[in-house]
Amino acid sequence: MSKFLACSYGGLAAYVPGEQPRDRKYIKLNTNESPYPPSPKVIAAIAEKTADMNLYPDPEYRSFREKAAAYHGVGIENVSVGGGSDELLDWIFRAFFPDRGVIFPDVTYGFYKVWAALYGIKYREIPLRDDFTVDPADYTKTEKGGPCVVLADPNAPTGIAAGLDAIETIVAADPDRVVVIDEAYADFSSYTAAPLVKKYDNLIVVRTFSKSRSFAGGRVGYCLASPEIIKDIEFMRFSTNPFNLSRTACAAAEASFDDDDYFRARVADVVRVRDEFSAALCKLGFEVTESSSNFVFAKFPGKSGRDLAAALRERGILIRRFDSERIKDHLRITVGTAEQMSALVGALADILKG
Ligand SMILES: *Cc1c(COP(=O)(O)O)cnc(C)c1O
Repeated sequence: MSKFLACSYGGLAAYVPGEQPRDRKYIKLNTNESPYPPSPKVIAAIAEKTADMNLYPDPEYRSFREKAAAYHGVGIENVSVGGGSDELLDWIFRAFFPDRGVIFPDVTYGFYKVWAALYGIKYREIPLRDDFTVDPADYTKTEKGGPCVVLADPNAPTGIAAGLDAIETIVAADPDRVVVIDEAYADFSSYTAAPLVKKYDNLIVVRTFSKSRSFAGGRVGYCLASPEIIKDIEFMRFSTNPFNLSRTACAAAEASFDDDDYFRARVADVVRVRDEFSAALCKLGFEVTESSSNFVFAKFPGKSGRDLAAALRERGILIRRFDSERIKDHLRITVGTAEQMSALVGALADILKG
């Protein structure tokens, strides 16, 4: 850090994304991207809109918000847009958590802690159960002025979904606190909390195009909430980055909503390969959590996660692992194509034999 950086940032740790390698070609299963390209209609929409790039986009993003609203059966006044869901989460932390603080699981998306620390927000990590599931009771014993909640559902890096009843119980427990459900992986599960935003004005559902819509490189996210909360998020957007989605990103996102068949087919491919891969890992002797996402979370009893990850890397396969004590021997493996996963299963069998 330079001598010029504000003291308040001294000693803070930034988020560390999964590696985007440049040294050689890997089978890349470390950042939960889709193995499939965006729909041909999305690619065509980007090409078409490139000609208009001399003009700013519509700062209200009406056309995109209308499509997102129609997709989820809510109104345009229930939708705001982000340059990826990370941008929305950043605004949400700054807008809603400073007074009350926030709680989230001890094993979850690493960025929550980074934002809380960066903005001086009080936070508490709530241990997941031994099997990595969320106990809703940990989030329903509310007190006056008590902390807000952020939950990734399905959770990362565990892949486990809490269930819609649990989510509704947590949201309903205290109408005076904001509950944020980060649904980065919800398209790979069996439900979404999106319809609940019409029933609860303290709920924010955050969604992204990065995982299920093959658009991590395009940086598109959106959130759904009550009109009052959306106005606050729009206040943050217009106070920081009113043109946060490029014209091409926005056109691509709209084309993705329009090409629902392609989207559904790719999600179904990932779910099918995921379930086959999970079964293959179990057969090798791994302990595997029940994934409702596009990745699998697994450990081999008695083997170090660090050693397994290093051995895979030597064989040209990248997966993600974390140093925190509770999950240091787990591997988080993105679901790629069927071919990529059988290469991985082969490599693991080889490593375990040796
Ligand atoms: C990937 C991910 C995000 C961020 O996604 P972007 O839309 O690409 O910014 C947010 N939350 C969770 C839990 C994620 O896994």
